[in-house]
Amino acid sequence: MIYKILFLLIISLLHGDIHVFNRRAGSESEISVLRDSKPLYISAKDLARSMSSKVYENSERKKLVLYIGSNKIKISGNSSYIIIDDKPFQMTSAIIVESNELYLPAIDFFEILKTSIMPGVNFDSKREILEIDIIRYNITNIAIDVKSNGTIIKLATKKSFSENGISSFINKHGWFYLTVSGGIVDTTTINTGLRRGVVKQIESDQIGKTAQVAFKLGSQVISHEWYQSLDPNEIVIVLRTPLGKLDEHIEDVKERWRLDTVVLDAGHGGKDPGSLGKYGTKEKDVVLDITNRIGKILEKSGIKVVYTRQEDVFIPLIDRTKMANDANGKLFVSIHANSNPNRKVQGFETYLLRPGKSEDAIEVASRENSVIKLEEKTDQYENLTGENLIMATMAQSMFMKESEDLASIIQMELDKKLETPNRGVKQAGFYVLIGASMPNVLVEVGYLSNPSEEKKLKRADHKQQIAEAIVNGIKHFKSSREKLLVTE
Ligand SMILES: [Zn+2]
Repeated sequence: MIYKILFLLIISLLHGDIHVFNRRAGSESEISVLRDSKPLYISAKDLARSMSSKVYENSERKKLVLYIGSNKIKISGNSSYIIIDDKPFQMTSAIIVESNELYLPAIDFFEILKTSIMPGVNFDSKREILEIDIIRYNITNIAIDVKSNGTIIKLATKKSFSENGISSFINKHGWFYLTVSGGIVDTTTINTGLRRGVVKQIESDQIGKTAQVAFKLGSQVISHEWYQSLDPNEIVIVLRTPLGKLDEHIEDVKERWRLDTVVLDAGHGGKDPGSLGKYGTKEKDVVLDITNRIGKILEKSGIKVVYTRQEDVFIPLIDRTKMANDANGKLFVSIHANSNPNRKVQGFETYLLRPGKSEDAIEVASRENSVIKLEEKTDQYENLTGENLIMATMAQSMFMKESEDLASIIQMELDKKLETPNRGVKQAGFYVLIGASMPNVLVEVGYLSNPSEEKKLKRADHKQQIAEAIVNGIKHFKSSREKLLVTE
């Protein structure tokens, strides 16, 4: 017996396979790993087998689709994205293709799986053990309604809880706690950052067999009560406030929507001059000048401006949106000047991040993206073609409508002020727009390759016109967006 165990141990050490305990299916199995790979890579097909999931494979296109329960996971060779139910998730390493098999970076992949659709997945990379156990949440969602005399919180539940098992209290720091015995709370869904009415913060925790949901209350609550409602199953919490607190709610919403911080990104800089004109004008200088003019006018009207650069310095593309996000920007506007082998081409255009539609647009994007070659860490950029670009765009879809509005307003305002041709709103894959958690556009203010436009772009009055037009666009966008608040 002992020999048999030793033998199995040695075999498993040799193979370095992952041992899987599928407690849901009541089975055990192995997943082979890619030898000598770092981080640890596992076979996608073996994983599917271990999870007893249905698989659709297109080995020619290096694609695999796993069906786990009602969820669909798409895996593509050489991509660092996986798509779960049409939503892209990024891993820190790409999927490897080896002898026509796909291998997934195990730690990243299981982390995504755990936080998205399979909370019961536990991967122990040291012991090389994977445990699959489906946790069924019974407190699954939250909604908050604000009334004139209070805030109503509804926690969606999968069953009705005995009211004896529910308790609540408010502590001296203004936190309202609700504990549900037998509750299993979906903490990722409940901790949404939702702030509404008197609720300023939400924290949920699973403490053994008890679920706890805590709400930080921002104003005086004169009474609190809760009840388990049936059909639909939900725990309803009523937090009563003195009449008149509705105004505060509107103020809260306004605050989140208020377009108070604009991020201005002057393209290129430092060792990257951008496009060059016949008379030696450099894009990096023209766009910095225009950007500083825009900033000055915006600041005068009380809008906070964050600049990605205010001097002639080199800044990697990836850092630009990071600066924007860190500064809590509400809009991201990148300023560039264009170039075309045909020196007759002139005019202004505004771009959105989306797969390019025309050859011209793709050409502009590839020129603006080419700066990456000058950067030190080039491996942090995904190849921006086909599916990768579609996924990057999808990750931004929540800002797409607003980015479209902003682009068309800016284009309209430029048209009012400039005599150069309006070349319209276009779309292509610009790295500098990827990852901005706010509406974002890239403005190409004119063509430095056109000698007469180059001359104009050297003139202070022309640059001032451009700056004013873009400011008008931003302000127009701001007021139309803030007008929406009235109907909130
Ligand atoms: Zn540029």
